[in-house]
Amino acid sequence: MRAALKTADGRFEVTNVDRPIIPADDFVLARVKVAGICGTDLRHWNKAESELECHIVGHELAGEVVEVGANVVNLKPGDRVVIETVMGDGVCVFCNVQQYNICEHLYDVRTKFVSRAYGEFVAGPEKKFYKLPDHVSFEEAALIDTFSVCLHAHHLGQVSVNQKIVVIGAGPIGLGQLQLAKLSGADVLVADVVDSSLDLASELGANVVVNNQSDDLIARVRDFTGGRGADICFECAGGESMPQTLPLATKAVRRGGKVVIVGGFDTGETSIPLEWQRIQMSEIQIVPSASFAFHDIYPEQGMVLELLANGKLEAKKLITHRFKLDQINEAFETADAKESTGAVFVAITIS
Ligand SMILES: [Zn+2]
Repeated sequence: MRAALKTADGRFEVTNVDRPIIPADDFVLARVKVAGICGTDLRHWNKAESELECHIVGHELAGEVVEVGANVVNLKPGDRVVIETVMGDGVCVFCNVQQYNICEHLYDVRTKFVSRAYGEFVAGPEKKFYKLPDHVSFEEAALIDTFSVCLHAHHLGQVSVNQKIVVIGAGPIGLGQLQLAKLSGADVLVADVVDSSLDLASELGANVVVNNQSDDLIARVRDFTGGRGADICFECAGGESMPQTLPLATKAVRRGGKVVIVGGFDTGETSIPLEWQRIQMSEIQIVPSASFAFHDIYPEQGMVLELLANGKLEAKKLITHRFKLDQINEAFETADAKESTGAVFVAITIS
């Protein structure tokens, strides 16, 4: 099969590799149709990481079932599916209570099986596959992983009606966070440094948008919240902007408010200073959020699929660019240069 393999310098080489085989009777093999580029993938773009050399990466994907194991009951070849790539070892105390997003072996297990979106085929256990209704396209379905990350953070933040929410970062994650907060009846201010992303945030229902490069975000938040500060601030920028945006998030929330960290840190980050005494004395809660798993009895990915299918979440407007697998390096360059390209969600047609 065709697949994009990471090179030692952090780019991709598209080549032929062996197709995965079904390793157990409850497994399903799917042909990947569309994959997305996530902030996590971008943080590893163009970085020399020899440990990733020759790996297939990517974890936002939708496709079509081509083969099922003997014990698979709910799927058959030809079914259109979205594939959940958050997968733990299935045996630890966290996996046992469906908190597999914090499984110690999450990275190893998911990258061995389902988290391989930039190849023509993936294999995974039946329970990680969700059937798509006909009216949900593969492209839209590739955003379900992103929105599931948002839904997990939304649950941890406990967003409720009439709250004043600040979202820092108007990429796919921030725009998902915005939509969920609006669905819960909150008012939302979205901040970013890219004006085209802020225009999209307005279109998706943001009450206020702020370019935090050219405007004073904290002053604008005070105006938005009657001088108090936000009930919850979602940090959704992540990566290299985190040294600025995380301290900013702790200044944007009110006393007793919450900062939910959704954006990802660079590996080994230990050096971001925060005003710990002020944070402590005003009882600001710092809430880290990692991937997604279950909420009560419901898989968060399944909840997002339902919201998308019912028209409560908008995915189409976020898809700004489309590339083929052979153009994957160009796709990453486009996503990385969003200030000049206006990229939000970059979709890659895999097969
Ligand atoms: Zn586990």
